[in-house]
Amino acid sequence: MILSPVDAEFSFAVDVAVVGAGACGLCAGLAAAQAGAEVLILERDESALGTTAMSTGLIPAAGSALQKAAGVEDSPEQFANDICAKSKFRTDENIALSLAKESAATIDWLVEDQAVPLSLVDSFLYPGHTAKRMHGTPNRTGSELMGSLCAAAERAEVQILTEATVTDLFVDDDDRILGLRCRRPDGSNEDLECKALVLACCGFAGNPEMVHKYMPEIEAGLFFGHPGNKGDAVKWGTALGAAVADMNSYQGHGGVAKGYGIPILWPAIVEGGIQVNQEGLRFSNEALGYSEQAVNVLQQSGAVAWTFFDETRHNLMLEFDDYRDAVTAGAIRSADTLQGICEQTKLPFDAMQATLAEIDRLAANESADEFGRVFDAKNALAAPYYAVKVTGALFHTQGGLVVDENGQVLRPDGSQLPNLFAGGGAARGISGPDASGYIAGNGLVTATTFGRLAGITAAKLRRV
Ligand SMILES: Cc1cc2nc3c(=O)[nH]c(=O)nc-3n(C[C@H](O)[C@H](O)[C@H](O)COP(=O)(O)OP(=O)(O)OC[C@H]3O[C@@H](n4cnc5c(N)ncnc54)[C@H](O)[C@@H]3O)c2cc1C
Repeated sequence: MILSPVDAEFSFAVDVAVVGAGACGLCAGLAAAQAGAEVLILERDESALGTTAMSTGLIPAAGSALQKAAGVEDSPEQFANDICAKSKFRTDENIALSLAKESAATIDWLVEDQAVPLSLVDSFLYPGHTAKRMHGTPNRTGSELMGSLCAAAERAEVQILTEATVTDLFVDDDDRILGLRCRRPDGSNEDLECKALVLACCGFAGNPEMVHKYMPEIEAGLFFGHPGNKGDAVKWGTALGAAVADMNSYQGHGGVAKGYGIPILWPAIVEGGIQVNQEGLRFSNEALGYSEQAVNVLQQSGAVAWTFFDETRHNLMLEFDDYRDAVTAGAIRSADTLQGICEQTKLPFDAMQATLAEIDRLAANESADEFGRVFDAKNALAAPYYAVKVTGALFHTQGGLVVDENGQVLRPDGSQLPNLFAGGGAARGISGPDASGYIAGNGLVTATTFGRLAGITAAKLRRV
């Protein structure tokens, strides 16, 4: 809710308050503190985790020192073009380019200034990316990324107040945020004064009413995001007259292991794997992207599909912690023969034989199937086979508050709100108006880079 400052009982004051302790909030807090501001990050949960800790933690950037050291040629223009092409040029191209231009500085800053142990993922290309530009921590997990960011916050003496749910903002007649109210576990309220506010509390995937309203196509899917993200940024922002955009846009995933809750990452598909339904039939161009594939999977009988691949892809996937967990948990079936894997999965042998024969035929001719996926020799699958039953899921929302290139929140006429910033899932993303525009990395590039830039800009408003 938006409250009048006359109702505030401020018990303490900081320069920059940050709502939410995920990647965006931590980057905003670290950058603001480095720029000389006194910062407090408020987090509703007992620990700083958020969607970020559930993620694979891969952050794209063009022109990072790690890319240069690996001899990868890339440029912000190439990265921005990949982002825009995935959204069919239905996103803000200026914001995409400015994020792409700042992305390398963010990665270099995380590595050099914040000691986050990132390395370049050089084993494969994610769909839609034309250069190897994903950066991740050693085990490629978001929990490891969050651990490093929290350690950096501790070193920088950036305070994180946990179990502090921000409920209200105090705003004057000029739309200036003067402070906020948070609720503590014992039910008491605390009011905090601030000079600038960064909304890093992600989107509304954890709010079923908003999901129903803005993205009914995915509401029947598995919710595999952070339940604490209730859409507070959008609610406060719209109450203040801020613009919102792309509210139907989200990151879906067409490959969460059914019954295990482990995402089976898309390298299994882009490197040659396929998805079949329970009838043993392919039903889409699964290589287009995992986000839009969520709805395609949900439309199959039982709202499930099988991700099907072979030992070459299995070995590649072992790079990922999530996949190793899926193996240990028993989610991945394997057999030396097609007959064997069909017995384990109950997939119909005849249909699977025909499906694989068709892929072999397409691969031999290097031609496209009825869905537009081109197969070549590299796609041919060979025994032993691997399969995992998956369903479609909602990860996080991509629509939100419209911001400028520094993460400052804008009104519909393009004017800035005086001291309100947003980034990550709280802000409008760069995926266009629907799930098909999400290219891998859109979540964390906006969280880390908007977070860093919002922190730097917000720090300029500090008390003197
Ligand atoms: C399984 C999975 C894999 C993914 N893999 C990748 C990947 O490899 N690369 C990529 O780019 N993206 C990935 N994503 C997306 C990425 O995780 C998100 O885009 C990103 O983490 C969002 O960061 P954030 O800081 O905006 O939000 P979050 O990390 O969700 O942090 C928001 C925080 O705000 C807190 N909060 C909310 N409301 C309040 C309130 N009122 N008061 C106080 N605190 C509040 C929440 O508790 C939460 O801790 C993945 C997502 C999932 C689910």
